[in-house]
Amino acid sequence: MIPGARLIVLGKQGAGKGTQCVRLSRHYVIPHIATGDMLRAAVKKRTRLGEEARRYMDAGELVPDEVLLQMVSDRLDQDDTKERGFVLDGFPRTVHQAEALDLILEPAGVDLVVNLVVSTQIVLRRLASRRVCMDCGANYSVSAPPRIGWICDVCGGEVVQREDDTEGAIKRRLDLYEKQTAPLVARYRRLGKLAAVRGDGPADAVTERLVKAVDERRVPRAGGWP
Ligand code: AMP
Repeated sequence: MIPGARLIVLGKQGAGKGTQCVRLSRHYVIPHIATGDMLRAAVKKRTRLGEEARRYMDAGELVPDEVLLQMVSDRLDQDDTKERGFVLDGFPRTVHQAEALDLILEPAGVDLVVNLVVSTQIVLRRLASRRVCMDCGANYSVSAPPRIGWICDVCGGEVVQREDDTEGAIKRRLDLYEKQTAPLVARYRRLGKLAAVRGDGPADAVTERLVKAVDERRVPRAGGWP
């Protein structure tokens, strides 16, 4: 298989984007770019960006575009993404961010935008039991914990419940998703870029559905994109 793909994964918080994006990243040998993970790393390192982003994140609100767009554009400008592509997780989240992304990616654009569809009832259940690695962002749950204690299998970091996985912040994020991110689904459908993939059931079955959808649309390019 020739590696490479340019993908966006949309879906409510708790739809399984994080887990599935890691799998897509391994399958197609592409960087997994998760804006939430990048922001949490900045908060942990106490950089200026992190200090600025923190209060929005704790409240379950969107970090302002001035802060975010430069971070994403710098990441997409690196050699690995230019040569092999990327899977974007948690970005874009608004129509304005999608328009900014179009400009960053001109002229090639993305291969496919996947909407990972899961009912609100299921995501609420998943979010309540979700646990994440503070260092690398790997996802676990109360029913699928790391092998030893709450220590990450991938990097040895501490696995915790996210500070914004409280009931109030979850509700706020789901409301925001409906208002600001759901319109992106219609936008990418109109542009002929969207595939809806069911996100319920075992993780392996979801990955299979995703790979099938991506393979139907992917344009592998040895040597990168224009
Ligand atoms: P996530 O891990 O994707 O749920 O993101 C965690 C938090 O980071 C969100 O609740 C936002 O505060 C912030 N965040 C992540 N991605 C974005 C984005 N594309 N635009 C604005 N804020 C974001």
